[in-house]
Amino acid sequence: MKTHYVLFAALVLAGCATPAPEAAPEPDDDVDIGVLWAEHSAEYQAVSAQVYAQARKDLPRLLADPEWTALPGDQDVAGKPPAIILDVDETAVSNAAYQKTLVYAPYTRFRHFDWMRNNDAMPVRGAARMVDEARAAGVEVFFVTNRACEPFDGVEGDCPYEQVTIDDLREAGIETDPEHVLMAWEQPGWDKEKLTRREHVARTHRVIMLFGDDYGDFVHCTRAKPLAPCTEPATRASRHAALDTYDEYWGNGWYILPNPMHGSWTTVR
Ligand SMILES: [Mg+2]
Repeated sequence: MKTHYVLFAALVLAGCATPAPEAAPEPDDDVDIGVLWAEHSAEYQAVSAQVYAQARKDLPRLLADPEWTALPGDQDVAGKPPAIILDVDETAVSNAAYQKTLVYAPYTRFRHFDWMRNNDAMPVRGAARMVDEARAAGVEVFFVTNRACEPFDGVEGDCPYEQVTIDDLREAGIETDPEHVLMAWEQPGWDKEKLTRREHVARTHRVIMLFGDDYGDFVHCTRAKPLAPCTEPATRASRHAALDTYDEYWGNGWYILPNPMHGSWTTVR
């Protein structure tokens, strides 16, 4: 009898000490597993942290070498101040929560803009610290994004996504301004092929590091449908050949973040 009482008391105490179970997660049956990975997995956070940790270690070395540039073929770096270039989506700001909405509302540029302006941005782990350390070392930080600079019906301004992008970056812990955010179509010749904008930054700066989640954040001509100045369609073979061409840059000036959700690779799958 006494034993039963002690056991009962122990169970009551154990019950008190056990936290209430978490609410059951929403069913995500229709959501792509890559999107769920980016939204929920600790692994995604860990890979992002690892990429930026490597870059932070490399920063002093790449900064100290006055000849070094992360733009292949750019020889004209003498005397230019150092800069780094980051992409925005899946590089500084995660789109995983937005990607889930694609189950019921197909992607459009306006829907992406509208979702981003109405929701807090989810930071990519490590990006804000990278930006802080680069700036502390005297490096200027540019964002080259394929978010579009265009008017939207019923929205004020010719380029409303630029301010929303600046707001998103602030929500992700990064302060910046329009001068450092280079959008698609913001200037003539700035289409979604980012080479032109990298070269634009390189005219005034020594670009020492590139950060992105898409091959196109580093390598030019990565799409099946070529955009100027590219003339040949990318293929699986051409994209893989570029791995060898630029082998020295990966993890050494070029830092790629994981993105299993979208990207230029899907045009040649
Ligand atoms: Mg991106």
